[in-house]
Amino acid sequence: MNSKSNQTYELERSVSVYASADVIVIGGGPAGTAAAINAARCGKKVILLERSGQLGGMGTLGNVSVFMPIGNVTGIYREMISEVLTQYLPQHHDESVSPQFSPFLLRHYLNEKMEKEQVQVCYHTEFVGVVKEEGRLKAVIASTREGLQAFEGKQFIDCTGDGRVAIDAGVPFTSGREEDGLTQPMTLMFMMQNTGKPVIPLLPEGCYDYQSVEDLPQGRRLYWERNDDGMLLVNMTRVKGNGANIADVNYAETEALRQVFSIVYYLQRNGYETYTLSHVAGQVGVRETNQIQGLYTLTEHDVVGGKRFTDVVAQTNYEIDIHSPDGKKTTDERKVDGYDIPYRCMVSELISNLQVAGRAISATHVAMSSMRVQPTCYAMGQAAGMAAAIAMDSGCAIKDISIEALHGKLSEQNVIFRK
Ligand SMILES: Cc1cc2nc3c(=O)[nH]c(=O)nc-3n(C[C@H](O)[C@H](O)[C@H](O)COP(=O)(O)OP(=O)(O)OC[C@H]3O[C@@H](n4cnc5c(N)ncnc54)[C@H](O)[C@@H]3O)c2cc1C
Repeated sequence: MNSKSNQTYELERSVSVYASADVIVIGGGPAGTAAAINAARCGKKVILLERSGQLGGMGTLGNVSVFMPIGNVTGIYREMISEVLTQYLPQHHDESVSPQFSPFLLRHYLNEKMEKEQVQVCYHTEFVGVVKEEGRLKAVIASTREGLQAFEGKQFIDCTGDGRVAIDAGVPFTSGREEDGLTQPMTLMFMMQNTGKPVIPLLPEGCYDYQSVEDLPQGRRLYWERNDDGMLLVNMTRVKGNGANIADVNYAETEALRQVFSIVYYLQRNGYETYTLSHVAGQVGVRETNQIQGLYTLTEHDVVGGKRFTDVVAQTNYEIDIHSPDGKKTTDERKVDGYDIPYRCMVSELISNLQVAGRAISATHVAMSSMRVQPTCYAMGQAAGMAAAIAMDSGCAIKDISIEALHGKLSEQNVIFRK
C-alpha cells in the first residue's frame, strides 16, 4: 500500500550547531569508518554521524558477517584483518581471502578503533538535510537524541549507502536497472548455532513449510560455517523491492522474518537437526538503492573488460553478483579478472566539498553488483578520507585534488594498487 499524497509542507526551523569539524562523515559502515579513520590520520578533526547504535554498516547491523574476496587485501582493510582476524591475513596483498567474522566483535573493534583514532562518533544521529551555500555544504542537519542538531564541516563524505546526503544536496542519481529501475532484493541475515543435541523444529504461525530446495526463497542453500565454532551464517531469505522505498522496506521487514523462521524449520529437518536459531539481524539487509551521477560512471563494460584508470582508488576482482531484482530465485554470477574504481565515481560536478564513498558511488546496476562488497567499500572510504584532507590543505574543490598527491599519500599508508 502506498499512502503518499501530493500535499507538501514548508519546514522552517532554527537549528543550533551541536559541533563543528574539519570533516563530517555521514554513515558508519565500511566506507564511513575507513573514511573517518583516514581523515583523522591526516590530522583533521572528524565527526562521524551514524543513525544506529553501532558501526560496521551491513557487516554488523545487517549481520553480513563475511567479507567477500576482492583480490587486493591492502590499506585499512588489511590492517583490520591483521588486528582482529589474524588467521586470515594473506602473505601477499594480491591474494584473496574471505573471512567470516563475529559481527559483535567487529562492532566492539570499530568502537575501540574510533577512540584510538580520535574520531568523534555520534550514534543515533540520522542525517536529515543539508545546509548549502553557493555549491558548497556548510552543515548537515541530523535528528539526534537531543532533537534536530546541525554539524558544521569543511568537507563532507556521504557514506550512507543510499547517497542520501548527495541527493539532498541536489546531486542527480539513478536507481536500479537501466530498463525498469528494479534493484537487487533485500535479505535478512541470521545465524544458527550447533547445540550438539537434537532440537525440536518450530514453525511459527504465518510462516512457510518449505519442502524442497526449489521452494526456498533463493532456490538454493547459501551459508557459511568456517570457524569451527558451530556457527552457521545464513544468507537465504530474499524479498523483492528497493531498500530506499518506505513501502518496500515495510513489507521486507515482516516478510523476511517469516522466511527466517521458515528456513530454520527447513534446515532443522534437512541436515541441521542440532542447530538452533541464535541471532537475527536487527534490520533487513539492503544491497542496492541509489547511485549518484558522478564525474564518471563505472559500467559493466569496465568491470568485464578489466579497465584500469589513472585515478584508481580501489581495485577488485569480485564477481558480478546480481540477486534477481524480478522476484525470481535466480542469481546472475559472473567471474571477473579485476578492474579499477576511479576517484571520479565518488565526486560530482555540483558540490565542491562533498564525496560519496561506498556502494552508492556512480556506477551502473551491473557494475555496482560487483563493487558493492565490504572490502571495496573500506578501500573507497580510505581514499575519500585522504582526498578530503588534501582538498582542505590545498584549498581546491574536491574534484580538483591532485591524484598524484592522493596516490603518493595512500602509498605511504601501504595501499597497494596492482598495475
Ligand atoms: C544481504 C546482503 C548480503 C551481502 N553479502 C555480502 C558478503 O557476503 N560480503 C561482503 O563483503 N559484502 C556483502 N554485501 C554487501 C555489503 O554488505 C554492502 O554493500 C556494504 O556494507 C556497503 O557498505 P557502505 O559503507 O557503502 O554502506 P552500509 O554498509 O550500508 O553502511 C551505511 C551506514 O550508514 C548509516 N546510515 C544510513 N543512512 C544514514 C543517515 N541518514 N544518517 C546517518 N547514518 C546513516 C547506516 O546505518 C550504516 O551504518 C551484502 C549486502 C547485503 C545487504
